[in-house]
Amino acid sequence: MDFIEQTIYKDSTNLYLQIPKFCPQCGAVNNPVTNILSRQNVKTSEENELIASASHYCNACSKAHFTIQVQSSGSSYLVKAVYPETQPSLLPEEIYELSPRFVKIYGDSEAAEQRGATELAGTGYRSALEILIKDYALKYSEDDKDTIAKLNLANAIGKYFKGDFFSAAEVVRLLGNDYTHWDKKYDFKLEQLKAYLNVFIGHVKVQIMLKNPIVSTKKN
Ligand SMILES: [Zn+2]
Repeated sequence: MDFIEQTIYKDSTNLYLQIPKFCPQCGAVNNPVTNILSRQNVKTSEENELIASASHYCNACSKAHFTIQVQSSGSSYLVKAVYPETQPSLLPEEIYELSPRFVKIYGDSEAAEQRGATELAGTGYRSALEILIKDYALKYSEDDKDTIAKLNLANAIGKYFKGDFFSAAEVVRLLGNDYTHWDKKYDFKLEQLKAYLNVFIGHVKVQIMLKNPIVSTKKN
């Protein structure tokens, strides 16, 4: 996790805290409303240290995250613990609107990944892809819900995507299958699967933007 410094005015003096660079709840660039909850001298080893706890309210997602900080010198503190400890990526707004369930599964998979549960994360990213493709098809294809629900992931990719974006989704499906199957076929890293999934997410975002232009683009 990356950190930035935040200056807090407290008891007529400035304190310099370390906070996550991005909100641990939503992934937005972090500029939270910080409250120091406690500051206390505590015996932590041979020495006493001044420990501060703080809440950080994020205006982007209306949720707080929390830190524990140790005084390093004077009014400067170094962060020792953050809750939540995971760091979600900020996904495009268009994707949030199209498929909240995709965003939830993607975030859960990322949390698993960041805790070292890569097998679970790989399975999760594959499931997330299927949800995104089917939500996209429901909104932008002529097919009804029953037809879409019956498609397996391979058929859904083939039906709704062509060319390079078919390939990006296929890579995620094939690598994701390796996490769900007993017999592994490929030698790859989870980051590679995720990179192709991110390419595909970018494509879906572009498609949504082009299908919903913000001004009229009809020719006179
Ligand atoms: Zn947030």
